[in-house]
Amino acid sequence: MATTHPDTAGSSQTAGGPTMAKGWGTDAADQPLRPMEFERRALRPNDVAIKITYAGICHSDLHTARNDWGGTLYPVIPGHEIVGTVTAIGNEVTRHRVGDTVAVGCMVDSCMECDQCLEGWEVFCRERCTQTYNSPDRQSGEITMGGYTDHIVVRDHFVCKVPAGMDASKVAPLLCAGITTYSPLRQYKVGGGTKMAVVGLGGLGHMGVKLGVAMGADVTMITTTPSKGQDARELGASDFIISTDAEQMRAAATRFDFILNTIPVSHEIDGYLNLLGRAGRMVIVGALTPMPGFTGFNIIWWNRAVGGSAIGGIPETQEMLDFCAAKDIYPDVEFIQMNQINEAYERLLKNDVRYRFVIDMAKGL
Ligand code: NAP
Ligand code: ZN
Repeated sequence: MATTHPDTAGSSQTAGGPTMAKGWGTDAADQPLRPMEFERRALRPNDVAIKITYAGICHSDLHTARNDWGGTLYPVIPGHEIVGTVTAIGNEVTRHRVGDTVAVGCMVDSCMECDQCLEGWEVFCRERCTQTYNSPDRQSGEITMGGYTDHIVVRDHFVCKVPAGMDASKVAPLLCAGITTYSPLRQYKVGGGTKMAVVGLGGLGHMGVKLGVAMGADVTMITTTPSKGQDARELGASDFIISTDAEQMRAAATRFDFILNTIPVSHEIDGYLNLLGRAGRMVIVGALTPMPGFTGFNIIWWNRAVGGSAIGGIPETQEMLDFCAAKDIYPDVEFIQMNQINEAYERLLKNDVRYRFVIDMAKGL
């Protein structure tokens, strides 16, 4: 049994059996996204059904659609920055109510029993977390379909609350770009006095700047795009460095305690390592593919470290949303209509977005 809300009459979501969903996805790496219809599962007792109102466009969506990482199961419907309204709940759900404004990020399920899940690090579930798209459902084996859709069904634990008073239209990018940058800043205790740099001013990078500034760090933006320098200052950065300018990079040697590297492709890191001071750390969040080697001397001298960070767990995601609500932090967004998705992907590839596309579902699918 599930409960529905009178306000949702007329939406495609009904309690009971499976429902037909509409979305946009692609059939192959070289094909554009197109409208698709598919079935969403019937609510399980611990499921929440959500009418999606906004979906952010992450570069990972594009990597997956184009099979940049291999392993894409077509047809794929991306989207893991999701905001919407609860339309129905399973009879064991207590944390969410019909009518609530909620958010879903990169995960929709995990074993919830292993040490990682129990410690709030569901992303590292020993039995692999179920991702929001391109991932087999733990019970049915069906491949998950993401947020470029009119509605979604998600296990209650993986549904976050959008804090009261937040502008829900701008919250979606926090669910991936926000948590992926918030989590390493918290792990490595970025705060007052930290000299921090963010490499790559895109969806993740611009959130890294805003969050770093909000935590009290002195943030410098490192960009390949000279015209983004002024933007970096408006986002709160105290300075910017053009990474293609060897003189600027040389002058910044040993300047930073912490570097958040969001470059989305494989790249040489020696030049960035040289910017770290004593015991400085660079966290790579962008490049998932094989990277060229780096010079051992560049980490041994100055006691530097290189690490990585994957999104964040669900408790930390809620903490990040609450932090953003309290500090009035939002991504800079450009709203698009679903049928502009292919153009948006091309612009993302050309670094032509300031700084996150968000699909406004009210404009039509
Ligand atoms: P994005 O909006 O496209 O931003 C990436 C930025 O990196 C660009 O705006 C550009 O900034 C810079 N850049 C692009 N190509 C570059 C190149 N060849 N060399 C140097 N800089 C380059 O992407 P995003 O959505 O922020 O995602 C960034 C990466 O993080 C993606 O690969 C995504 O898959 C990954 N990601 C990882 C996680 C995780 O859990 N670790 C989570 C989400 C996303 P400038 O113009 O300022 O140089
Ligand atoms: Zn993402």
